[in-house]
Amino acid sequence: MKPRDRLRVAMQKSGRLTEPALELLRRCGLSFRQSRDKLFCFGESEPVDLLLVRDDDIPGLIAQGVCDVGIVGRNVLDEFRLTAGVEQAPLAELRALGFGRCRLSIAVPQESAYREPAQLAGLRIATSYPGLLGAWLRERGIEAGVVTLAGSVEIAPKLGTADLICDLVQSGATLVANQLREADVLLDSEAVLAGPAELPGDERGDLLALLLKRLDGVIQVRESRLLLLQAPRCAVEAVTRLLPGGPQPTLLPVAGQPEQLLLQALCAGEVSWRQLEEIKKAGARDMFVLPVEKMLT
Ligand code: ATP
Ligand code: ZN
Repeated sequence: MKPRDRLRVAMQKSGRLTEPALELLRRCGLSFRQSRDKLFCFGESEPVDLLLVRDDDIPGLIAQGVCDVGIVGRNVLDEFRLTAGVEQAPLAELRALGFGRCRLSIAVPQESAYREPAQLAGLRIATSYPGLLGAWLRERGIEAGVVTLAGSVEIAPKLGTADLICDLVQSGATLVANQLREADVLLDSEAVLAGPAELPGDERGDLLALLLKRLDGVIQVRESRLLLLQAPRCAVEAVTRLLPGGPQPTLLPVAGQPEQLLLQALCAGEVSWRQLEEIKKAGARDMFVLPVEKMLT
């Protein structure tokens, strides 16, 4: 294949992962020229282009070298790794991206007495994930029938084509609507950056390293909050003890009030009202919790 000096990222053309994936790439400083109904978007700010495809095609496109990396659900990546032929290049989960969270679960009819996997022996399970389900059953030494369906898995028990299902669950509303209940979780999934197990040795490797570094920054920032507050010197120690995880706070003098300090702390996660109330009780006042826009440390 002709060497490429631009990085090509595959992502879902239209679906649950499309908007959050684009937003994430934008936050990494990437911008694209073409409209989204096209298959290909040319990268303007960096030599990083997008290919918009069905999510199921993404691992294959990376394995074939058509794309360098892709944003896809862990469920799709792991299913591909289990079912693709050995001739396919090995794929790795390079980063977990924190959106598109769902579970691949076993769901049984509401009235079922299911308690443990062993009870599945001899039953028929409908799924679009025969690789993941098959591996899970094998690990437990369970012999059950796997009925592979491309979609509408949740109606299989009602149609009588299966006794239960193994499908993606997010809120559980689809299960309830079909008189099913979640009985066991096979996989916790979220969107991931999938790519080759080894970075390419050419310019694309450098571009991928840059993308990974920016992703790490964006992910860290997304979960960070900057906490600002004032406290008397004597209360600073007690206040600091109550701060959610993160590096040591910075203390600054307050003009004209020698006994008062301004405390600035980067928190690795949400700061709740309850935590703020506790911190206030310890002597703090004028508290602000700010989202962090960009961070370079
Ligand atoms: P495509 O046309 O690209 O094949 P699709 O119908 O397979 O689309 P979506 O329903 O958009 O895909 O789901 C994409 C991914 O979103 C899933 O593979 C999964 O990782 C994640 N996801 C999150 N919540 C759910 C959910 N409740 N049901 C299905 N997928 C979910
Ligand atoms: Zn799909």
